[in-house]
Amino acid sequence: MTARLLIVGPQGSGKGTQGVRIAEAFGIPVVSTGDVFRANVAAGTDLGKQVTSIIDAGDLVPDELTSAVVRDRLSQPDAGEGFLLDGYPRNLAQVMHLDEFLGGRDEALDAVIALVVPRDESLARLTARAAEQGRADDTAEAIETRLNIYERETAPILGVYGTRGIVDEIDGVGGLDDVTDRIFAALDARGLRRRSAD
Ligand code: AMP
Repeated sequence: MTARLLIVGPQGSGKGTQGVRIAEAFGIPVVSTGDVFRANVAAGTDLGKQVTSIIDAGDLVPDELTSAVVRDRLSQPDAGEGFLLDGYPRNLAQVMHLDEFLGGRDEALDAVIALVVPRDESLARLTARAAEQGRADDTAEAIETRLNIYERETAPILGVYGTRGIVDEIDGVGGLDDVTDRIFAALDARGLRRRSAD
């Protein structure tokens, strides 16, 4: 069966790691806009050049550009049977773009996993990652900007998906495996079957 999933959470919530685990268990690709942008920056493509300074500042890439990237990715054959979106949609305009695109294919999201992590905890994890990985957008200022954008623009999308009854709020504090188990339990309860559960 297919699973069209979205994982939402503040930066530093562990959504990237959990997203990969979920996608693997369901046999679906992860579609991470952040990863697509970073790959383009690294490869020096036109898209990469357009977005470098925006990403480094921790600001959002324009909605039209981001949505075009996602439409293109979701149109590839491996996303036909399902996908896990990570980092998109990130505001209400992007929710509308995604609705339009999926609606045109008679598809809809099955579940939205909302990782709940207090701001202090996200901040501590991001600061630790900055020290380890040295990502260009992990400066104190860019981290602050990203967390503010999350609270102001991204958290409200959960209201929209909440009225559709597809949001599962998951406590993101604790061991990685514990959080994964919580997510799997919520998806199981929706009748979404993992490949590994066959
Ligand atoms: P992430 O890895 O999801 O934290 O994304 C890294 C950066 O890529 C963000 O801080 C934004 O600059 C950009 N980005 C990723 N996804 C989006 C999106 N859906 N809309 C706009 N910008 C995005």
